Amino acid sequence: MPELPEVETVARGLRQAILGRRILSVSLGKTDFIDDPLALEQNLPGRSIEAINRYGKFMLLRLSAPARTNGTLAAECANQASLLVHLGMTGQLAPSPAQEPREKHTHVCMVLDDGRELRYTDPRRFGRIAYLAEAPLAEELKRFGADPLEVSKDEFAKRIRERRARIKALLLDQSVLRGVGNIYADESLWRAKIHPGKLGATLNARQAENLRHALQAILRKAIAMRGSSISDFLDAEGEPGEYQRRHRAYGREGKSCHRGRTVIRRGIVAGRSSYFCPKCQPAPRGFVVLPLPRAATPPPGKMRSARRVGRGRDNMRRNSSHFR
Ligand SMILES: [Zn+2]
Repeated sequence: MPELPEVETVARGLRQAILGRRILSVSLGKTDFIDDPLALEQNLPGRSIEAINRYGKFMLLRLSAPARTNGTLAAECANQASLLVHLGMTGQLAPSPAQEPREKHTHVCMVLDDGRELRYTDPRRFGRIAYLAEAPLAEELKRFGADPLEVSKDEFAKRIRERRARIKALLLDQSVLRGVGNIYADESLWRAKIHPGKLGATLNARQAENLRHALQAILRKAIAMRGSSISDFLDAEGEPGEYQRRHRAYGREGKSCHRGRTVIRRGIVAGRSSYFCPKCQPAPRGFVVLPLPRAATPPPGKMRSARRVGRGRDNMRRNSSHFR
């Protein structure tokens, strides 16, 4: 799922590509991920895209005032309206020349005043799109926590150290911090040498500050590298990100830690796979580490003993299971 750096990358690309463009018309495909499809069709045509902001994992396309304002409260509200876009797992928002055939799973198509179309494609439709006037937008955004790139030392410490929840769960909780997901939570915890299963309340002030520093450094670097492309994230120009090459914990189960030979392991925190180095990130008591998958290379010692005990047929069975 796109997290803060990926969404920021898309927002920056869109700023380059479509800022100031006017939306002429809107056509919709499947609409089950749109809050109020009719509101899009009624309110977008004629409005310009005046700014594109990121808010946590949301993008906000700020719209110009509607052409006919008649002084009512509703019209004033509409002056500050935005199109809220959440890319979900597989959403993409990018402009295309109008003559280019629409890709499969194109569910929102906004015709722009320069001969292009701003298209939202989303095969799995876990994303969300909503037209929100000022008050409902403010209401919507109220439930989100601090921006991790802007949060101060004291505020971060307060949000983390006063909680009994596990630190990874706190990082993922959008009402604590907005924009962090599984990848950047694991990466920042690895860098700060904090186990994902530790309770927020058990971090000391120095650990909390190390974590804030690690998180901010990683998010900035990931933005500079245009995000991480695992599965199918593409930016507004249809290009993949590069940060996946810098992953040190996430998705590296069974591989050596970059700080030593200890093998990265996996456990479940907040219902999510969490990757950590058992040596650099000491686990809290009782934390369940999942067994390494069979495909992972066992350490040399174990390999030798397996060969010694194994008889012909056992070995064949063991080998063949690798290719299943
Ligand atoms: Zn390590």
